[in-house]
Amino acid sequence: MVLEEYRVRFVRQGPEAIDPADLLILSPGVPPETPLFAAARAAGVPVIGDVEFASRFLRGRVLAVTGSNGKTTTTALCGHLLRAAGLPVRVGGNIGVALASFAEDTRDETWTVLELSSFQTEMLTTMRIHVGIALNVTPDHLDRHGSFEQYAAAKQRMFACQQPDDHAVLNHADPVTFGFARQTTARTRWFQTTGPLDQGFWLDGGMLVADGQAWMPAAEIPLRGVHNVENVLASGCAAALAGVPLDVARGAVKSFPGVEHRLEFVGCIGGVDYFNDSKATNVDATIKAIESFSGGLWIVLGGKDKGSDYTPLAPLLRARARAVLLIGAAAGRIRGDLETALAGAVPLHDCGDLATALRASHAAARPGDTVLLAPACASFDQFTSFEHRGRVFKDLVRQLEGPTQ
Ligand code: ADP
Repeated sequence: MVLEEYRVRFVRQGPEAIDPADLLILSPGVPPETPLFAAARAAGVPVIGDVEFASRFLRGRVLAVTGSNGKTTTTALCGHLLRAAGLPVRVGGNIGVALASFAEDTRDETWTVLELSSFQTEMLTTMRIHVGIALNVTPDHLDRHGSFEQYAAAKQRMFACQQPDDHAVLNHADPVTFGFARQTTARTRWFQTTGPLDQGFWLDGGMLVADGQAWMPAAEIPLRGVHNVENVLASGCAAALAGVPLDVARGAVKSFPGVEHRLEFVGCIGGVDYFNDSKATNVDATIKAIESFSGGLWIVLGGKDKGSDYTPLAPLLRARARAVLLIGAAAGRIRGDLETALAGAVPLHDCGDLATALRASHAAARPGDTVLLAPACASFDQFTSFEHRGRVFKDLVRQLEGPTQ
């Protein structure tokens, strides 16, 4: 409706769509290999992505976050840290607010904090990113990118357009993001949780360290898991580059509420904790979720399969799970991968859906245990989105609350 007011035409994909056209702008996720776009290129019509297009209307500076997991959390946290220092901030991109919707409102003082998916970074050609964060690159979206190498190359594009005055904040412990340092002319700043570095932000024992100076104890971070320490280190490093003082950043980290559906604490019923990590839609995120608990886990796995290998979950499940509750279309594949690897060490229960999984865990879990939804799969077999799945989980947990009180 609104677009029609601007006399925007809607046409089917075909040659008439590019005749006449000055420029083609792709929505994220539309493969640039689609025949229409090949035809456009052949006809000399430039094809660019939505973020690249919107960036041409941006003023001020850009802090962008990419990675396979942790983008939304880190983007939200960066926005929170910059705001705490009184900087004028806009947060958007893949996090839910399209850059095009606010690019024209930015001013020279504005910091635009952007979450960028691989579908958006792969289409970047000229966009200036003053501070770019790469958290990690682990297998995801391979159905769309073709291979891990192509997926990594798509993420790396974010750093290829940087200039020597810009900064690349890279995870030193991730072999792929480590390699990005060689591909950018920007100055590299490192972060990692696995030990001291020559420069950057790292975790040393229980202390977060900024260039050799104690910054804040890990115990002050209100989010669970070492992966969230990584997110805090990356955000702290980027915020410092944007001029946020370390003490201000420390205070802001302590007040960060986290993001819904990311290891979100739902409640404690009869001494059993319930956590919603519906956004754990790939195996690596699920590994990180399991690592955030010391044991006693009843873990719900399953959903729409993305062709993943689930066997890497087995050692952690052996060490920390009481049972695996299988749901959704991927249940058979997950059982196939885990049955041999677990060899009966952890029972696999076919529950079908979330309600059954919750009833089963509620009946069997003991005080001190944790029921965790971290399904390692997409949601689209039984839900409209991972948010929908997380909300259903939370509603079901609240329904359990009644009879036990
Ligand atoms: P993204 O936007 O990249 O999907 P989110 O912040 O939404 O990232 O988190 C997605 C999933 O990954 C959640 O399950 C979360 O608990 C997990 N996660 C968050 N940060 C990290 C990290 N640094 N490394 C691995 N997993 C992470």
